[in-house]
Amino acid sequence: MTSLEYRYDESKVRKCVRHGSSYGKSKSSNFSSTYTTWKNSDHIQKPSIFSKMTSAFTTMLRIRRSATAVWVLALCLFFFISFYLPSSSNAPCDCSHDAAVAALSGNAYHDHNMQPGEDSQVFPSDKHKMALLIPFRDRFEELLEFVPHIHAFLNTQRKNHHIYIINQVDNLRFNRASLLNAGFLESSVDCDYVAMHDVDLLPMNPALIYEFPEDGPFHVAAPHLHPRYHYPTFIGGVLLVKRDHFRMVDGLSNKYWGWGLEDDEFFARLKEANLSIQRPGNLTSGNKETFKHIHDRRVRRRDMIKCYNQQEVTRRRDRETGLSTVQYHVQSIKEITIQNSPVTILNIVLECDKYVTPWCDCTENVGNVPRSHKKGEKSDDVIVPKLNRKTHITQDG
Ligand code: UDP
Ligand code: MN
Repeated sequence: MTSLEYRYDESKVRKCVRHGSSYGKSKSSNFSSTYTTWKNSDHIQKPSIFSKMTSAFTTMLRIRRSATAVWVLALCLFFFISFYLPSSSNAPCDCSHDAAVAALSGNAYHDHNMQPGEDSQVFPSDKHKMALLIPFRDRFEELLEFVPHIHAFLNTQRKNHHIYIINQVDNLRFNRASLLNAGFLESSVDCDYVAMHDVDLLPMNPALIYEFPEDGPFHVAAPHLHPRYHYPTFIGGVLLVKRDHFRMVDGLSNKYWGWGLEDDEFFARLKEANLSIQRPGNLTSGNKETFKHIHDRRVRRRDMIKCYNQQEVTRRRDRETGLSTVQYHVQSIKEITIQNSPVTILNIVLECDKYVTPWCDCTENVGNVPRSHKKGEKSDDVIVPKLNRKTHITQDG
């Protein structure tokens, strides 16, 4: 399926799902019919067990064996409480785990909890809406913890929002920046700002307000609050950018395959566009209590391999690629809920031009071409931050 065909068929899916949207209604008719069948089939046998017990009990009374009758009554009560009551509540199973597994692998899944759009709250007091763009691959446990947490956190703030998991499903190296570009294009224009949000970073202090970034990008995970990175130009973790500003700087570079530097290159873009970065002010929770970073570095290894001339190219500002040039197609879109928190999973296949960025696949060549010192290189173009290992990075997790 080409991306063009997909965009046409699924145009409504790309809307930020709103309460009572037509998409939600048309889809939910399917769900309710299955749900009713399931509900009814559950009731078929239960009354017969119950009525058998009642008739046994009345027989006992008729032949005046009251002690036995009391025992039978107790037994009936026991059976009633343990079997009949739980199933009669009609509570759908919590299918979050299976639904998420299926959606991330591109399979269809019927989730009894799911009513697309129905349970995403709308806060009329908030005149804006945020698309949370979560670049993602193989972080399943983190996802199950992140989604319900952030959804509840933002509902408490009464912020209109919708969560998009931008799941990279190709075999290339992870490319956080290109996934954010793709997520931006696939998310709805109903959302007037985006949150570029790591899946493993949970805001813990309710004073972290995910406000519409009117005056310039708002860096929620500021260097003095992030558990790991503390250098002054750091803008990773959680960054809010309004749609116009994201377009204005042409999104992020698509040259960053593997871990690191794509956010530093984005910082250079914002700086060049004279956008000043805002940060939370007087928070007393410091860099240990403000966020929870659910990242075990031995389990979730950062892909720091360099190959071909990757180091040479990626240490400099990219003026060629960005939102306007990102190459990808959408393999599928799934709407699921994780513990009643609605999420859109975008399964994205990124494309790589191996003539431009051969390091999108390092399996053939893991050697690194040492960087050359070019004469006349504009110092402005170097985007690598000067780090003091002791003060700028904490070995968390
Ligand atoms: N990420 C992912 N799968 C990967 C690598 C990264 O989902 O294989 C996403 C995930 O959202 C993660 C973010 O990219 O939180 C940043 O990567 P990571 O946590 O490794 O970087 P850190 O900020 O901890 O150095
Ligand atoms: Mn991390």
